[in-house]
This record gives sequence, C-alpha cells and structure tokens, in this order.
Amino acid sequence: MERLDAFFARAAAAYYARGAAFGQEGDFTTAPEMTQVFGECLGLWAAVTWQAMGAPARVALAELGPGRGTLMADALRAAREAMPGFAAALEVHFVETSAALREAQRARVPGAAWHGSAETLPAIPAILLANEFLDALPIRQLVRRGGAWRERFVEGGRFVELPTELDPGPAPEGELREIGEPREAVAALLARRVASHGGAALLLDYGPAECAPGDTLQAVRGHAVADPLAEPGTVDVTAHVDFAALARAARVAGARVFGPLPQGLFLSRLGLHARSALLAGAAPGRAATLMAAAHRLTAPEGMGRLFKALCLCHPALPRPAGFEE
Ligand code: SAH
Repeated sequence: MERLDAFFARAAAAYYARGAAFGQEGDFTTAPEMTQVFGECLGLWAAVTWQAMGAPARVALAELGPGRGTLMADALRAAREAMPGFAAALEVHFVETSAALREAQRARVPGAAWHGSAETLPAIPAILLANEFLDALPIRQLVRRGGAWRERFVEGGRFVELPTELDPGPAPEGELREIGEPREAVAALLARRVASHGGAALLLDYGPAECAPGDTLQAVRGHAVADPLAEPGTVDVTAHVDFAALARAARVAGARVFGPLPQGLFLSRLGLHARSALLAGAAPGRAATLMAAAHRLTAPEGMGRLFKALCLCHPALPRPAGFEE
C-alpha cells in the first residue's frame, strides 16, 4: 500500500523513463508538439523579458520538464532571429529527471546544461519556463467521511481510505480535496530565485484560476482516457494545477505574481495567430495544420481557457508582456 502521492511519483517516473510518449504518435500532444509557433512566442516573450530586466550580460534561460526539447529549440530559433543580443547572453539550463528525455533534449538543444532539480540552477538572473510540468508532480487527496478527513492510498490498483494528520477544516460529507505540496514548493523556489537573483518564471499548465474542490486525477494512453491507478509506467498520470495555491506560495516567497490568465488570451497577445498566419502564407502545405493548432491552443473549447499562464517576477520588473490589464 502506498499513499497517493508516492504512487503518483512512482507512476510519473516510470512513465517518463520510457521517453517516447509525446507527440502525434504517443499518448498525448502538448502545445510545443502541436506547432512551432508556441515555442517561438515564448522565445520572443523571453527576449522581451530579458530587455525589461536591463539586458544582463549573462542570463539563464531555464526550462523545467522540457519533454523532447521542442519548446526550447523553437524559442531559441525565434530569439536568435529577433534579438541576437539576448541569444548571445543566454545559457540554456534544463531541469529533467528522465534519462531518455534528456537524450531527446540533447539532440535538439546540444549546448544545454542539465539538472535533476531546480535547486541546482546557477545563482544568476534567469528566465524560467515550464509547460505542463507542474501537472506531472504528485498530489495527495483527502475525502470527508463521517465528519472527519481521510486520505487516499493505493493498493492493487484501487483506492483505500485511511486516517490522516491533515485537516483542511470542515466540509460537506464526501467532499474531495487535492493538495500539491511539491508543486507549491517549486513555485516558492522559483519565486525565491527571481526575487534574489532577478528575472521571471512563466508557468503554463491546466487547472482552474481559483481552486475548486473535486477529483482531477486523470490518465491518458494513446490519446484516450485511461485508469490513473493502472500499472505505473503504462499511462500518463496528471492532475489539475491549483493556480491560486501557486500564486500564494510565490507571493510568500517574495515574488510579484501576474495572472493566472487564460492561455488563449496570453498567446493571442503574444501574436500566436499573426505568426501562424505568416508561416502559413510562406508554407501553404502546412497552412491547415498551423492554423488548426493556433485555434486549438487559444479556443475556449480547446486549450485556451482551461490552460493558464502564471508569471512570478522580481518585484522591480515591469508588468510582463501578455499580462497587460
Ligand atoms: N514541457 C514538455 C513536456 C511535458 S511532460 C511539453 O510541453 O511537451 C512533463 C515533463 O516533466 C517531462 O519532461 C518529464 O520527464 C518531466 N518531469 C516530470 N516529473 C519531473 C520531476 N519531478 N523533476 C524533473 N522533471 C520532471
């Protein structure tokens, strides 16, 4: 028997160790695997943010959970074109635990440095990116039963409820609460970093702007819904990100917080549609794919509303691009 967060961590590690899960052929498709324009927009965002930081001569461009390295490769290409000074100042750092995915990242971004956790990133000004990273970090689940809280454990592919030391206060019978301590710890760590060394962290993920009670543990396999308690390594297990909790943790740790903003609004403000149309015009054979991806990333019924953008900044940094009021 294992507490849910221990099971989740084991399942995620086993799954990502396989490495080949992303993309059209894999179990799920993330934004950078849908269109090059996603990473390009974030590269331009990083370049503008570097300027707002006072164009430091040395800056870390770091990504947490870079998957196949696609986002960073696209971001670097756009940054080199648009702002060579930024491209010359930056060094790429990846936070990644999967050896197989590190290899995929090395193939796309050869000059990067790798870290097992964000704690060992260099103590220099940084622009940090994370897309669908936090949703892969473990959660705990509490259920209200008979006027007390119980906690979910996993045994033989099923939930078992046991007494817990946690007490989030009174709630209706049967209510389920999720707690993502490692996620809030990452937000706090990034917030401390940008507050002490300068810079900004941009977190993109799916989840509600305000925390909502309920069970969001889920799994996919071959682009279809699967059992999250299935044999570790066979399905991709995630859960919604509680952006309100991340924002609280980041503020306590000293960062200024912008958002969460719906991803559709954020990407539209960064020019996702215009850039997609430009590329489509230049490459008619890819036009339909490019425009469909731009639509899916921004449409409310696609990934435009459920996905959010949250930015944690050094307190002296001006309002970041895309987060205009
Ligand atoms: N950002 C990519 C991949 C998202 S999948 C994309 O958008 O396509 C989650 C990524 O986080 C994978 O690269 C996975 O190996 C990595 N990851 C998961 N848990 C991690 C952990 N605890 N520490 C570091 N990386 C982790």
